[in-house]
Amino acid sequence: MFLKPSLIVQDITTIDLALLKANGIKGFIFDLDNTIMAPHTGALEQRIESWLVLLQAEGFKCLVLSNNKKADYCQLAEKVLNIPVISHAAKPRRSQFRKALQMIGLSAREVAMVGDRPLTDIWVGQRMGAFTILVDPLIKHQERRLYKVLRGLERLFVKGG
Ligand SMILES: [Mg+2]
Repeated sequence: MFLKPSLIVQDITTIDLALLKANGIKGFIFDLDNTIMAPHTGALEQRIESWLVLLQAEGFKCLVLSNNKKADYCQLAEKVLNIPVISHAAKPRRSQFRKALQMIGLSAREVAMVGDRPLTDIWVGQRMGAFTILVDPLIKHQERRLYKVLRGLERLFVKGG
């Protein structure tokens, strides 16, 4: 099994929106933790907030699909982001991804799945036939060493462009 993200970027705010529009993309499904928010914080960086506002002003539909199981935290994130959040998504399983598509009224081919984890975020997007964007985790330096090693291994599944 190989994962081949449609796009690999270091930072979500550098995603080329014109390129996505040219590819027929009309919406975004985002991972939450380490993709748009530092994990467990509920804090949204100003530059990311501004970018999310820009996206919606450009007409892109947005939704967050998180494997996080903490309902309180996900509700807080939903308020802070002002974007619907589906928690307990069990990515790479597809059922909640399908629910997300229904909620934003788009087909899989019309959305970009954006996340920092190849084996959950990119895999589910790829299985669904969505455009997939792998981003660098927001917080790398604070991760424990073992976790870093696991992430390194996970990246081995990714075939570069
Ligand atoms: Mg994540």
